[in-house]
Amino acid sequence: MADNNTVKENQFTPVTYDPQYILMVNALKKYFPIKGGMISKTVGYVKAVDGVTFNLKRGTTMGLVGESGCGKTTTGRTILRLSGDKTDGQVLFNGQEVYDLSTKEMRSIRTKMQIIFQDPFSSLSPRLPVGEIIGEAVREHGLVSKAEFNDYIDQVMDNCGLQPFHKDRYPHEFSGGQRQRICIARALALNPEFVVCDEPVSALDVSIQAQIINLLKDLQDRYKLTYLFISHDLSVVEHISDTVGVMYLGNLVEYGNTTDIFKNPLHPYTKALFSAIPIPDPDAKMDRIVLEGTIPSPANPPTGCKFHTRCANCMAKCKETAPQQKEIEPGHYVVCHLYD
Ligand code: SF4
Repeated sequence: MADNNTVKENQFTPVTYDPQYILMVNALKKYFPIKGGMISKTVGYVKAVDGVTFNLKRGTTMGLVGESGCGKTTTGRTILRLSGDKTDGQVLFNGQEVYDLSTKEMRSIRTKMQIIFQDPFSSLSPRLPVGEIIGEAVREHGLVSKAEFNDYIDQVMDNCGLQPFHKDRYPHEFSGGQRQRICIARALALNPEFVVCDEPVSALDVSIQAQIINLLKDLQDRYKLTYLFISHDLSVVEHISDTVGVMYLGNLVEYGNTTDIFKNPLHPYTKALFSAIPIPDPDAKMDRIVLEGTIPSPANPPTGCKFHTRCANCMAKCKETAPQQKEIEPGHYVVCHLYD
Protein backbone atom coordinates (compact mmCIF):
# COMPACT_ATOMS: atom_id res chain seq x y z
CA MET A 1 0.00 0.00 0.00
CA ALA A 2 1.32 3.43 -0.88
CA ASP A 3 2.38 5.65 2.00
CA ASN A 4 0.13 8.70 1.85
CA ASN A 5 2.76 10.90 3.46
CA THR A 6 5.46 10.47 0.85
CA VAL A 7 5.85 11.49 -2.74
CA LYS A 8 7.63 8.95 -4.91
CA GLU A 9 8.98 10.64 -7.99
CA ASN A 10 9.99 9.26 -11.38
CA GLN A 11 7.77 6.21 -11.10
CA PHE A 12 6.73 6.38 -14.74
CA THR A 13 8.09 4.99 -18.00
CA PRO A 14 8.88 7.98 -20.25
CA VAL A 15 7.09 8.16 -23.60
CA THR A 16 8.72 9.29 -26.83
CA TYR A 17 7.20 12.04 -28.94
CA ASP A 18 4.70 11.08 -31.62
CA PRO A 19 4.19 14.08 -33.99
CA GLN A 20 0.50 13.34 -34.58
CA TYR A 21 -0.11 14.51 -31.00
CA ILE A 22 0.17 18.16 -30.01
CA LEU A 23 -0.04 17.14 -26.37
CA MET A 24 1.16 13.96 -24.67
CA VAL A 25 0.40 13.64 -20.97
CA ASN A 26 2.07 10.68 -19.30
CA ALA A 27 1.46 9.55 -15.70
CA LEU A 28 1.04 13.18 -14.62
CA LYS A 29 0.81 13.79 -10.90
CA LYS A 30 0.14 16.96 -8.97
CA TYR A 31 0.13 16.68 -5.19
CA PHE A 32 -0.41 19.61 -2.83
CA PRO A 33 1.30 19.32 0.57
CA ILE A 34 -0.80 19.42 3.75
CA LYS A 35 1.03 21.33 6.46
CA GLY A 36 0.50 20.67 10.15
CA GLY A 37 2.07 20.92 13.59
CA MET A 38 4.04 23.67 15.30
CA ILE A 39 6.74 23.87 12.62
CA SER A 40 4.38 23.56 9.70
CA LYS A 41 5.68 20.15 8.67
CA THR A 42 4.27 18.31 5.65
CA VAL A 43 1.94 15.71 7.11
CA GLY A 44 0.36 14.45 3.91
CA TYR A 45 -0.63 15.30 0.37
CA VAL A 46 -3.80 16.15 -1.48
CA LYS A 47 -3.44 13.95 -4.55
CA ALA A 48 -5.36 16.19 -6.92
CA VAL A 49 -3.92 14.57 -10.07
CA ASP A 50 -2.63 11.07 -9.47
CA GLY A 51 -1.22 9.55 -12.65
CA VAL A 52 -3.18 10.90 -15.63
CA THR A 53 -2.20 9.65 -19.11
CA PHE A 54 -3.66 10.67 -22.48
CA ASN A 55 -2.63 11.95 -25.91
CA LEU A 56 -4.36 14.72 -27.81
CA LYS A 57 -4.32 14.94 -31.62
CA ARG A 58 -3.90 18.28 -33.34
CA GLY A 59 -7.11 20.11 -34.22
CA THR A 60 -9.29 17.88 -32.03
CA THR A 61 -11.17 18.37 -28.77
CA MET A 62 -10.88 16.16 -25.73
CA GLY A 63 -13.66 16.47 -23.16
CA LEU A 64 -12.68 15.95 -19.54
CA VAL A 65 -15.62 15.05 -17.29
CA GLY A 66 -16.21 14.03 -13.68
CA GLU A 67 -17.74 15.27 -10.44
CA SER A 68 -16.59 18.50 -8.77
CA GLY A 69 -13.29 17.96 -7.00
CA CYS A 70 -12.14 15.05 -9.20
CA GLY A 71 -9.08 16.96 -10.45
CA LYS A 72 -10.24 18.17 -13.89
CA THR A 73 -9.24 21.79 -13.41
CA THR A 74 -5.95 20.92 -11.68
CA THR A 75 -5.11 18.64 -14.62
CA GLY A 76 -5.67 21.52 -17.05
CA ARG A 77 -3.67 23.97 -14.96
CA THR A 78 -0.81 21.50 -14.40
CA ILE A 79 -0.56 20.88 -18.16
CA LEU A 80 -0.22 24.65 -18.65
CA ARG A 81 2.30 24.88 -15.79
CA LEU A 82 0.06 27.29 -13.90
CA SER A 83 0.19 25.47 -10.55
CA GLY A 84 3.89 25.47 -9.70
CA ASP A 85 5.92 22.32 -10.25
CA LYS A 86 4.38 19.00 -11.23
CA THR A 87 4.91 16.15 -8.77
CA ASP A 88 5.73 13.53 -11.40
CA GLY A 89 5.08 12.46 -14.98
CA GLN A 90 5.50 14.10 -18.39
CA VAL A 91 3.76 16.91 -20.29
CA LEU A 92 5.00 17.02 -23.89
CA PHE A 93 3.73 19.98 -25.91
CA ASN A 94 4.82 19.60 -29.53
CA GLY A 95 7.36 17.11 -28.21
CA GLN A 96 8.84 19.55 -25.69
CA GLU A 97 8.68 18.76 -21.97
CA VAL A 98 6.91 21.85 -20.65
CA TYR A 99 8.56 21.52 -17.22
CA ASP A 100 12.08 21.51 -18.73
CA LEU A 101 11.65 24.99 -20.19
CA SER A 102 13.36 28.03 -18.67
CA THR A 103 11.20 30.98 -17.58
CA LYS A 104 12.09 32.80 -20.80
CA GLU A 105 11.27 29.76 -22.98
CA MET A 106 8.05 29.22 -21.06
CA ARG A 107 7.06 32.83 -21.65
CA SER A 108 7.37 32.44 -25.40
CA ILE A 109 5.47 29.12 -25.47
CA ARG A 110 2.74 30.61 -23.25
CA THR A 111 1.14 32.29 -26.27
CA LYS A 112 0.66 28.84 -27.85
CA MET A 113 -1.03 27.40 -24.74
CA GLN A 114 -3.99 29.40 -23.51
CA ILE A 115 -6.85 29.00 -21.06
CA ILE A 116 -10.46 30.21 -20.98
CA PHE A 117 -11.96 30.31 -17.49
CA GLN A 118 -15.39 29.45 -16.17
CA ASP A 119 -16.27 32.85 -14.81
CA PRO A 120 -15.63 35.48 -17.48
CA PHE A 121 -16.34 38.36 -15.10
CA SER A 122 -13.71 37.60 -12.46
CA SER A 123 -11.10 36.75 -15.10
CA LEU A 124 -11.36 40.22 -16.69
CA SER A 125 -9.81 43.30 -15.10
CA PRO A 126 -12.65 45.72 -14.27
CA ARG A 127 -10.29 48.69 -14.69
CA LEU A 128 -9.23 48.06 -18.27
CA PRO A 129 -11.25 48.75 -21.42
CA VAL A 130 -11.90 45.71 -23.57
CA GLY A 131 -9.47 46.69 -26.33
CA GLU A 132 -6.71 46.89 -23.73
CA ILE A 133 -7.69 43.56 -22.17
CA ILE A 134 -7.51 41.82 -25.54
CA GLY A 135 -4.41 43.64 -26.75
CA GLU A 136 -2.29 43.78 -23.58
CA ALA A 137 -0.50 40.46 -24.07
CA VAL A 138 -0.30 40.95 -27.85
CA ARG A 139 1.70 44.10 -27.25
CA GLU A 140 3.77 42.52 -24.50
CA HIS A 141 4.78 39.58 -26.71
CA GLY A 142 5.29 41.86 -29.74
CA LEU A 143 3.07 39.67 -31.92
CA VAL A 144 2.21 42.45 -34.39
CA SER A 145 3.78 45.79 -35.25
CA LYS A 146 2.46 49.07 -33.82
CA ALA A 147 1.04 50.00 -37.21
CA GLU A 148 -0.93 46.76 -37.48
CA PHE A 149 -2.06 46.61 -33.85
CA ASN A 150 -5.47 48.30 -34.07
CA ASP A 151 -6.55 46.44 -37.21
CA TYR A 152 -5.37 43.17 -35.68
CA ILE A 153 -7.43 43.67 -32.51
CA ASP A 154 -10.47 44.69 -34.59
CA GLN A 155 -10.11 41.51 -36.64
CA VAL A 156 -9.81 39.27 -33.56
CA MET A 157 -12.85 40.94 -32.00
CA ASP A 158 -14.82 40.54 -35.21
CA ASN A 159 -13.90 36.84 -35.33
CA CYS A 160 -15.35 36.49 -31.84
CA GLY A 161 -18.59 38.37 -32.59
CA LEU A 162 -17.55 41.69 -31.00
CA GLN A 163 -17.84 45.13 -32.61
CA PRO A 164 -14.96 47.66 -32.88
CA PHE A 165 -16.82 50.16 -30.64
CA HIS A 166 -16.74 47.59 -27.83
CA LYS A 167 -13.01 48.31 -27.46
CA ASP A 168 -13.57 51.39 -25.31
CA ARG A 169 -16.14 49.81 -23.00
CA TYR A 170 -15.49 48.09 -19.69
CA PRO A 171 -16.33 44.47 -18.72
CA HIS A 172 -19.25 45.45 -16.46
CA GLU A 173 -21.04 46.95 -19.49
CA PHE A 174 -21.37 43.53 -21.14
CA SER A 175 -23.62 40.49 -20.68
CA GLY A 176 -22.18 37.16 -19.51
CA GLY A 177 -22.07 35.76 -23.04
CA GLN A 178 -20.30 38.84 -24.40
CA ARG A 179 -17.80 38.73 -21.54
CA GLN A 180 -16.98 35.15 -22.45
CA ARG A 181 -16.49 36.31 -26.05
CA ILE A 182 -13.98 38.87 -24.72
CA CYS A 183 -12.12 36.09 -22.85
CA ILE A 184 -12.05 33.98 -26.01
CA ALA A 185 -10.81 36.98 -28.03
CA ARG A 186 -8.06 37.59 -25.46
CA ALA A 187 -6.88 33.98 -25.82
CA LEU A 188 -7.27 33.94 -29.61
CA ALA A 189 -5.32 37.20 -30.05
CA LEU A 190 -2.17 35.36 -28.99
CA ASN A 191 -2.51 32.95 -31.90
CA PRO A 192 -2.62 29.82 -29.73
CA GLU A 193 -2.42 26.20 -30.87
CA PHE A 194 -3.88 24.65 -27.73
CA VAL A 195 -6.58 26.03 -25.41
CA VAL A 196 -7.77 24.64 -22.09
CA CYS A 197 -11.47 25.55 -21.90
CA ASP A 198 -12.28 25.26 -18.18
CA GLU A 199 -16.07 25.04 -17.86
CA PRO A 200 -16.38 27.92 -20.37
CA VAL A 201 -20.18 27.87 -20.58
CA SER A 202 -21.33 26.63 -17.19
CA ALA A 203 -21.84 30.18 -15.82
CA LEU A 204 -23.97 31.20 -18.83
CA ASP A 205 -27.68 30.93 -19.62
CA VAL A 206 -28.56 27.86 -21.67
CA SER A 207 -29.53 29.98 -24.68
CA ILE A 208 -26.11 31.68 -24.66
CA GLN A 209 -24.20 28.44 -24.08
CA ALA A 210 -24.97 27.20 -27.62
CA GLN A 211 -23.67 30.45 -29.14
CA ILE A 212 -20.36 30.19 -27.28
CA ILE A 213 -19.98 26.48 -28.11
CA ASN A 214 -20.64 27.25 -31.78
CA LEU A 215 -18.11 30.09 -31.65
CA LEU A 216 -15.48 27.76 -30.17
CA LYS A 217 -16.18 25.16 -32.87
CA ASP A 218 -16.04 27.77 -35.61
CA LEU A 219 -12.70 29.13 -34.35
CA GLN A 220 -11.34 25.60 -34.08
CA ASP A 221 -12.18 24.89 -37.73
CA ARG A 222 -10.75 28.18 -38.87
CA TYR A 223 -7.52 28.14 -36.88
CA LYS A 224 -7.02 24.37 -36.38
CA LEU A 225 -7.11 24.82 -32.61
CA THR A 226 -6.84 21.93 -30.18
CA TYR A 227 -9.05 22.05 -27.07
CA LEU A 228 -9.05 20.35 -23.71
CA PHE A 229 -12.69 20.98 -22.79
CA ILE A 230 -13.33 20.61 -19.08
CA SER A 231 -16.99 20.32 -18.14
CA HIS A 232 -19.49 18.51 -15.96
CA ASP A 233 -22.19 18.98 -18.63
CA LEU A 234 -22.13 15.69 -20.53
CA SER A 235 -24.48 16.86 -23.30
CA VAL A 236 -22.15 19.76 -24.11
CA VAL A 237 -19.12 17.45 -24.01
CA GLU A 238 -20.80 14.95 -26.34
CA HIS A 239 -21.55 17.80 -28.76
CA ILE A 240 -18.08 19.34 -28.91
CA SER A 241 -15.60 16.53 -28.18
CA ASP A 242 -13.82 14.02 -30.40
CA THR A 243 -12.51 12.07 -27.44
CA VAL A 244 -13.60 11.95 -23.80
CA GLY A 245 -11.75 11.24 -20.56
CA VAL A 246 -13.67 10.42 -17.39
CA MET A 247 -11.92 11.41 -14.16
CA TYR A 248 -12.47 10.10 -10.67
CA LEU A 249 -10.42 11.18 -7.66
CA GLY A 250 -7.37 12.29 -9.64
CA ASN A 251 -7.34 9.42 -12.17
CA LEU A 252 -8.68 8.84 -15.67
CA VAL A 253 -10.92 5.78 -15.27
CA GLU A 254 -12.06 5.65 -18.90
CA TYR A 255 -10.88 7.27 -22.09
CA GLY A 256 -11.83 6.90 -25.75
CA ASN A 257 -13.67 8.26 -28.78
CA THR A 258 -16.78 10.22 -27.86
CA THR A 259 -19.08 7.89 -29.84
CA ASP A 260 -17.65 4.75 -28.22
CA ILE A 261 -17.78 6.20 -24.71
CA PHE A 262 -21.37 7.47 -25.00
CA LYS A 263 -22.64 4.35 -26.80
CA ASN A 264 -20.78 1.85 -24.71
CA PRO A 265 -19.61 3.22 -21.36
CA LEU A 266 -17.60 0.49 -19.59
CA HIS A 267 -16.49 1.73 -16.18
CA PRO A 268 -19.15 1.54 -13.43
CA TYR A 269 -18.49 5.22 -12.63
CA THR A 270 -18.94 6.28 -16.26
CA LYS A 271 -22.17 4.27 -16.43
CA ALA A 272 -23.50 6.02 -13.33
CA LEU A 273 -22.46 9.45 -14.59
CA PHE A 274 -24.01 8.92 -18.03
CA SER A 275 -27.23 7.43 -16.62
CA ALA A 276 -28.07 10.93 -15.34
CA ILE A 277 -28.10 12.51 -18.83
CA PRO A 278 -31.68 13.69 -19.53
CA ILE A 279 -33.38 11.97 -22.50
CA PRO A 280 -35.44 14.36 -24.70
CA ASP A 281 -38.38 11.94 -24.84
CA PRO A 282 -41.14 12.13 -22.19
CA ASP A 283 -42.00 8.43 -22.70
CA ALA A 284 -38.44 7.15 -22.41
CA LYS A 285 -37.59 5.32 -19.19
CA MET A 286 -34.48 6.55 -17.42
CA ASP A 287 -32.41 3.81 -15.76
CA ARG A 288 -30.62 6.14 -13.46
CA ILE A 289 -27.79 4.65 -11.40
CA VAL A 290 -27.57 6.56 -8.14
CA LEU A 291 -24.12 6.51 -6.56
CA GLU A 292 -24.07 6.00 -2.81
CA GLY A 293 -21.94 8.26 -0.63
CA THR A 294 -19.76 11.17 -1.57
CA ILE A 295 -16.45 11.37 -3.37
CA PRO A 296 -13.69 10.42 -0.86
CA SER A 297 -10.99 12.91 0.10
CA PRO A 298 -8.06 13.09 -2.33
CA ALA A 299 -5.89 13.52 0.78
CA ASN A 300 -6.81 10.02 1.91
CA PRO A 301 -8.02 8.05 -1.11
CA PRO A 302 -9.30 4.47 -0.68
CA THR A 303 -6.82 1.63 -1.25
CA GLY A 304 -7.00 -0.53 -4.38
CA CYS A 305 -9.53 0.87 -6.83
CA LYS A 306 -10.35 4.37 -5.58
CA PHE A 307 -13.97 3.90 -6.68
CA HIS A 308 -14.53 0.73 -4.62
CA THR A 309 -16.28 2.55 -1.74
CA ARG A 310 -19.11 3.55 -4.13
CA CYS A 311 -19.09 0.75 -6.69
CA ALA A 312 -22.02 -1.71 -6.88
CA ASN A 313 -19.73 -4.21 -8.66
CA CYS A 314 -16.97 -4.13 -6.06
CA MET A 315 -15.08 -7.44 -5.64
CA ALA A 316 -12.58 -8.49 -2.96
CA LYS A 317 -9.53 -7.67 -5.09
CA CYS A 318 -10.89 -4.19 -5.85
CA LYS A 319 -10.24 -3.21 -2.22
CA GLU A 320 -6.58 -4.24 -2.35
CA THR A 321 -5.23 -3.96 -5.88
CA ALA A 322 -5.44 -0.90 -8.10
CA PRO A 323 -6.62 -1.93 -11.58
CA GLN A 324 -4.42 -1.20 -14.61
CA GLN A 325 -5.50 0.56 -17.78
CA LYS A 326 -6.68 -1.81 -20.55
CA GLU A 327 -7.60 -1.18 -24.18
CA ILE A 328 -10.98 -2.88 -24.68
CA GLU A 329 -11.61 -1.79 -28.27
CA PRO A 330 -9.27 0.29 -30.48
CA GLY A 331 -8.63 3.57 -28.67
CA HIS A 332 -11.11 2.80 -25.84
CA TYR A 333 -9.37 2.39 -22.47
CA VAL A 334 -10.80 1.50 -19.07
CA VAL A 335 -9.31 1.06 -15.61
CA CYS A 336 -11.41 -1.60 -13.84
CA HIS A 337 -10.98 -5.21 -12.64
CA LEU A 338 -14.22 -6.21 -14.39
CA TYR A 339 -12.20 -6.26 -17.63
CA ASP A 340 -9.15 -8.24 -16.35
FE1 SF4 B 1 -15.80 -1.28 -9.30
FE2 SF4 B 1 -13.83 -3.01 -8.88
FE3 SF4 B 1 -14.08 -1.86 -11.26
FE4 SF4 B 1 -13.28 -0.45 -9.18
S1 SF4 B 1 -12.19 -2.14 -10.12
S2 SF4 B 1 -14.78 0.16 -10.66
S3 SF4 B 1 -14.47 -1.34 -7.53
S4 SF4 B 1 -15.52 -3.29 -10.27
